[in-house]
Amino acid sequence: MNKPSIYGLTFEQLTDWLGERGHRKFRAGQVWEQLYRKRVSAFSDMTEVREDCVKLLEDHYEIMTLKEHTKQEALDGTVKFLFQLVDGNLIETVLMRHKFGLSVCVTTQVGCNIGCSFCASGLLKKSRDLTSGEIVEQVMQVQHHLDQVGKGEKVSHIVVMGIGEPFDNYVHMANFIRVIKDHKGLAIGPRHITVSTSGLADKIVAFADSDLNVNLAISLHAPNNELRTRIMKINKAIPIEKLMNAIDYYLDKTNRRITLEYILLKDVNDQPEHALELAELVGERRHLANVNLIPYNPVDEHSQYQRSSKETITAFYDTLKKQGISCSVRLEHGTDIDAACGQLRSKQIKKAQ
Ligand code: SF4
Repeated sequence: MNKPSIYGLTFEQLTDWLGERGHRKFRAGQVWEQLYRKRVSAFSDMTEVREDCVKLLEDHYEIMTLKEHTKQEALDGTVKFLFQLVDGNLIETVLMRHKFGLSVCVTTQVGCNIGCSFCASGLLKKSRDLTSGEIVEQVMQVQHHLDQVGKGEKVSHIVVMGIGEPFDNYVHMANFIRVIKDHKGLAIGPRHITVSTSGLADKIVAFADSDLNVNLAISLHAPNNELRTRIMKINKAIPIEKLMNAIDYYLDKTNRRITLEYILLKDVNDQPEHALELAELVGERRHLANVNLIPYNPVDEHSQYQRSSKETITAFYDTLKKQGISCSVRLEHGTDIDAACGQLRSKQIKKAQ
């Protein structure tokens, strides 16, 4: 049987696990230090940890369970990794360079069941959830890559926006966040972590009630139910009114700003009337919301969608601004490689077939 990745344990879980096997708390601290500060990739490299403890860990866990399958590097420094899981499935992880630091976009599921009609990732249905260990390991694999490059760079931001709906894998997503936030380990600040959901209303409420305290982004993509259902079939089950109620609950409870993601699809949702309708929908929430406009990356399988022109994007942005809505246009990364989320993975799977 495959052993799980040790990265799936929070510090408290590791302390309890070792404690139940006769090891005092400071031992968990030593192991944690080796994993996240010294960043060993084999238990045998944990030279500062007692031998019997190393042996115990070796018997029950792996450190690295993902194998690098493909790596694409773009001119702007974006690196797209395709990792193979122990069961042979492929997942994508992306390292992006920004002025403010280095961010990693992680995947939370193998495939996705939400079925957004523009998305390359959703072309392949969900076959399973990732464990929290597999999600943390994506960050660690990228950090190990940076360590090997040798410039002393460190992952500073995390976006949970890769393949899958993170709130459909809530328990593992939450454990993942607890691990990467731990100040003795990777110590990624809560304001540097963003989870993006297609709008699972009950989970937005649970997220608001939780102690995770990280940023939330909602994939809105349309200002009314008719259009949103066309673009995102999840809107049939969770219409905009229900989503907005959950968002209001989140804003009331946390007083944190949210991001509303809006992918611009040529002649579908990118016209001035859509911008006006969107401004009205955001309405009173405007002081706590930022609309992030995303220029579409066309994929062969969804030829019905094209990228909006620069002029259309600017006009949409200006209309929102005039209505007093805070908004931005997402900077693009890795345009010379398979830039759309899930594109590299689906290409490789097709090739294999
Ligand atoms: S956009 Fe996200 S939620 Fe929608 S199908 Fe793609 S991976 Fe799933």
